[in-house]
Amino acid sequence: MNIKKIYMDADALLEGHFKLSSGNHSQFYLQSAKVLEDPKTAKLLAESLAKQIKDSGLKIDTVCAPALGGLIAGFALATALDVRFIFAERVNGVMSIRRGFEVAQGEKVLMCEDIITTGGSAMEAAAVVKELGGTIVGVAALANRGFCKRAHSDITTKSNCKLPQDIPFFALADFTFEMYAPDTCPLCKNGSEAIKPGSRGN
Ligand code: ZN
Repeated sequence: MNIKKIYMDADALLEGHFKLSSGNHSQFYLQSAKVLEDPKTAKLLAESLAKQIKDSGLKIDTVCAPALGGLIAGFALATALDVRFIFAERVNGVMSIRRGFEVAQGEKVLMCEDIITTGGSAMEAAAVVKELGGTIVGVAALANRGFCKRAHSDITTKSNCKLPQDIPFFALADFTFEMYAPDTCPLCKNGSEAIKPGSRGN
């Protein structure tokens, strides 16, 4: 399965000249939600990720996703793994588990995101799961931005990766494109102008 082609075909991986929220420029932009727009694609991707996880032998009771980004990927993955699905959400900026969701002592929880950049949100949600008594057994994402080492990839973990190194991280593909400061951006040097992704209506 060519994951990058699936993202390209869904307009979830855009090629051009983009101004990112960090202020840096890039030739590529990932609009992760777009790849999940078609439920058939979401199911296909989740089943592929679930197969990787099942093949590893990891035992999972529950998938937990941080809202909003991880909801669809997490639900699709839980469906493919045939396990329970819960989510964490920010309340006044603080990650919380609400809605009557309970976590049993020792419950084996897999954190799931649509994309892992540094893994910050996933780890904030994981901390709440642990406070409730759950055990974080792994992390999964459809896409990996390339800062964290995942199973079946040669990419090394960078210093800004927040995922713990003692549990497995599963993802379908690495999207490791370069980012440039505006004054050293080769695309700017070629005379094109960076656009804000989503400026045509998100
Ligand atoms: Zn530029």
